[in-house]
Amino acid sequence: MHVIYGGTFDPVHHGHLRLALEISDRLGVEYVSLVPCHIPPHRGQTGASSGQRLELLRLAVANEPQLRIDDRELAREGASYTADTLRQLRAELGLDEPLAMVVGTDAFAGFDRWREWQQIPELAHVVVVRRPGPALDPTGEPARLLAERGVGGPEALHGRSCGYFLELDPPLLDISATGIRERIGDGRSPRYLMPDQVWAEIRRQGLYGACPDGNF
Ligand code: ATP
Repeated sequence: MHVIYGGTFDPVHHGHLRLALEISDRLGVEYVSLVPCHIPPHRGQTGASSGQRLELLRLAVANEPQLRIDDRELAREGASYTADTLRQLRAELGLDEPLAMVVGTDAFAGFDRWREWQQIPELAHVVVVRRPGPALDPTGEPARLLAERGVGGPEALHGRSCGYFLELDPPLLDISATGIRERIGDGRSPRYLMPDQVWAEIRRQGLYGACPDGNF
């Protein structure tokens, strides 16, 4: 089974990395592919460029065989739509290989507003990771999908190429990229929230307002 986990990763942190490893273990797959998404220019101004986010991700997963990077969305011009990414992957994997995408409940709450959302279960399974915050609206389409097409465990996903929804509730680290950017901007250390190599590179390049000469 091929598993993708998308995000802005601006910057990547231990919350993302731990979750990806948990998913890999719980789904019983060899590796999970992290898929950094394109950021619209108005948001990019405060964070790092696509190339910089990718470089930080590469440093973060170096020497970790269970985590890989798929940079296809950065190579495409304009906005990245999940349906386009899944269609490309499906074409590469063939019709029989199970494909799954990971999404947090916060993002999944708006699933029925995603472009071509009805196509998504035709292309992949959806693994919904429970995150703190409001529960899904029980009368909405995302909750209905989970109820009608939800499966109890990962085994079912291996037996079909697409179409199932699986809810997982792994332990999550309380870390956010927004909090990290704010910390760095305020001159406080974000150490231990992300791999040391990532923080060293952020400082070296002066990203997010980091002071290149500052101490760890
Ligand atoms: P930002 O604070 O900039 O919104 P973020 O830290 O939430 O960023 P994203 O890159 O937007 O990170 O998230 C990518 C994916 O990782 C999303 O599905 C999000 O739900 C999930 N995620 C983010 N932080 C954590 C965390 N601490 N633990 C588990 N999953 C997380």
